[in-house]
Amino acid sequence: MAYEAIGLTSIRRAIVLVIKGKAESVVDRDRKIRSESLEISVPSIVRLKYYIRPIYKSTYPTRRNILIRDRYTCQYCGSDKDLTVDHVIPKVKGGKDTWENMVCACKKCNNKKGNLTPEEAGMKLLSKPRKPSYVELLILSKKNVPEEWMDYLFFKV
Ligand SMILES: [Zn+2]
Repeated sequence: MAYEAIGLTSIRRAIVLVIKGKAESVVDRDRKIRSESLEISVPSIVRLKYYIRPIYKSTYPTRRNILIRDRYTCQYCGSDKDLTVDHVIPKVKGGKDTWENMVCACKKCNNKKGNLTPEEAGMKLLSKPRKPSYVELLILSKKNVPEEWMDYLFFKV
């Protein structure tokens, strides 16, 4: 069985879902809330026990979306400065404007790579570029995405 990130919710709603038994906490935050009768860990990720249809909307590899997917990090050296978009297979070699062929790269790495493939340039990608779902992109576009969420994005099928 595969699970998929289907949306964002408030802490309040997540807690209500857990208390009502409609969801279970997968990862807790390092925080508890207490009332007179109850102590509950604040959930960071909850898994619904009922099915909701995920949102299927198209996502396009615009410059902004590539930077969001790659978390504003150069996919060659990890820098967050002077960011550009690099075509993994250069356009002059037939590389396309696709999610799988575009990555965030700093100016320095982009210049160094020039019109070469990563293999030719002796450069390694930090992760394999892939198409995010609409919800994944929505979540990643938030500032300060908790690190523990990353394990639950880009789920493998
Ligand atoms: Zn770089």
